[in-house]
Amino acid sequence: MMSSQRTPRSMHRRTPVWQPPTDVVELMGDVSGNALNGWDETVDRPPTLVMWANPKQLAHGPVQERMTRQFLEHPDLRSVLRPDDRHEPVTVATQKLERSPEQWMDDITTFASGLDGHEVELIGVARPEPNWFFDGRSSSLPFVVMLGVAMDHEQLATAPEHTSAMEVHRQYNRGTAAARALADLIRGRGYVAEGHGGPGAGPLQMVPAAIAAGLGELGKHGSIINRQLGSSFRLAAVLTDAPLLAGSPDVFGADDFCVGCRICTDACPPDAIAPERRLVRGTTKWAVDFDRCLPYFAVSHGCGICIAVCPWSTSGEAPRLAQTMQRKMSRRAASPAEQSRAELAPRPGTE
Ligand code: SF4
Ligand code: SF4
Repeated sequence: MMSSQRTPRSMHRRTPVWQPPTDVVELMGDVSGNALNGWDETVDRPPTLVMWANPKQLAHGPVQERMTRQFLEHPDLRSVLRPDDRHEPVTVATQKLERSPEQWMDDITTFASGLDGHEVELIGVARPEPNWFFDGRSSSLPFVVMLGVAMDHEQLATAPEHTSAMEVHRQYNRGTAAARALADLIRGRGYVAEGHGGPGAGPLQMVPAAIAAGLGELGKHGSIINRQLGSSFRLAAVLTDAPLLAGSPDVFGADDFCVGCRICTDACPPDAIAPERRLVRGTTKWAVDFDRCLPYFAVSHGCGICIAVCPWSTSGEAPRLAQTMQRKMSRRAASPAEQSRAELAPRPGTE
């Protein structure tokens, strides 16, 4: 592993930093995932695929293979891996159904409510940007529908136990099934649509697409914080040429909250969550240290501690925190003096 790319350790930790076992260190090799991810690069570019694809084509493929083996050896985890990946997409109808973009939006909202048997908790639409697609992958389809499926927070909170990983995979499966069902619905109406769901990587990074679609803000832990579900959800996506209406980012103060919070930073066993933003492919943003996260992630069934401990993820907390942060944002917008006070004040539960 390259050491020059590492983040400084948090000065506030109460527990020692976890150290990876020798066999995982060896599997990590000498290639820095942070370098592949574009840390300290000043120019935007397509992201490099670093995980959850054909391991033979990945720099850290041996770590992914070790993690997959560990999953398959665990009877409970094996039972939630997607049993059948041979979904046959519906043939695109030869005649296009004429619907206005507003009618299409009504239709996908109805879909999200579960009338087709695939309820999803969050749905939004964005226009894909070229640099959301992994290097070597692309799409000319003009819209991406982002779906969010809620996780049971009680199960998630058992992270890093395998019971949390089981819930993660149950919801990945639900999101994938919903994305495929929505794509089939669209294809049956004469438009092109492709459904994609985790944990395998699809053609594009889902986090920037979901932020653009209005599903939430990027948190310090590198996942999205939604105003209803916090970070207790998983994403799936449908690329399509159906005439939809793109949404816009939902800014409600989660990013601002992260500035004064260090809960995930302190809770992360390998100290992979830096307290400050990084420059990544031309954008300064919250970014998890891949080289520190991956070894722990691999030996702990996908970890998930950071999203479980995030105060926004606790059941029922996100709407209350969103309201509080929006009130603060409104006050700051109205008063520069209040803005300075708010920037200096500690946040409850973060000291
Ligand atoms: S735990 Fe705190 S710092 Fe981390 S993502 Fe959640 S709100 Fe942000
Ligand atoms: S998944 Fe686990 S190891 Fe990775 S950043 Fe989150 S808490 Fe840290």
